[in-house]
Amino acid sequence: MDYFSGHISTLIEQLSSLPGIGPKTAQRLAFHIISQPEERVKRLAESITSARANVRYCRECCTLTDADLCPVCSNPKRDKTTIMVVETPRDLAAYEKTGKYRGVYHVLHGAISPMLGIGPDDIKLKELMKRLAGGDVTEVIIATNSSLEGETTAMYISKLIKPTGIRVTRIASGVPVGGDLENIDEVTLLRALEGRTQL
Ligand code: ZN
Repeated sequence: MDYFSGHISTLIEQLSSLPGIGPKTAQRLAFHIISQPEERVKRLAESITSARANVRYCRECCTLTDADLCPVCSNPKRDKTTIMVVETPRDLAAYEKTGKYRGVYHVLHGAISPMLGIGPDDIKLKELMKRLAGGDVTEVIIATNSSLEGETTAMYISKLIKPTGIRVTRIASGVPVGGDLENIDEVTLLRALEGRTQL
């Protein structure tokens, strides 16, 4: 049963528990790691543990950050009355790169997908509603992807927010159907933002 040393078997086991890593890839990675200089492996291991220990969710918008508040939320020049809802920190980065959006964000960390068994409680939706209860927000721009999951999530959120009287908008369809925000050029992103419609 044990073809390898116990240490290698444990490493393979750990690696194959990562998403997208099958047993064969795990073996390949394990033997690659063993073949590397010890210093290099140490740096890899340290970067994993320190990322895990130091990266956390922003207290306000739930994006991943090293501090209690992310750079956007802690910037006094940002307009806290407008919240753009995105699926991932990568989507936030895509809009930040345009340099034109002055509001703040809310990162859901996923989208509702009945097919994958991901419900409203599995994304950072409660956290969004808690922020809205504060009373300062006047507009929520829903910038989830235009995939089935993104649209489902947008509909769900807009229904949740409507009764509060806060304006809910959806970015325009300049974003191609099924398109991930992070892969779209800045001009298209801005056009989608400017052409947003009320839900
Ligand atoms: Zn934040």
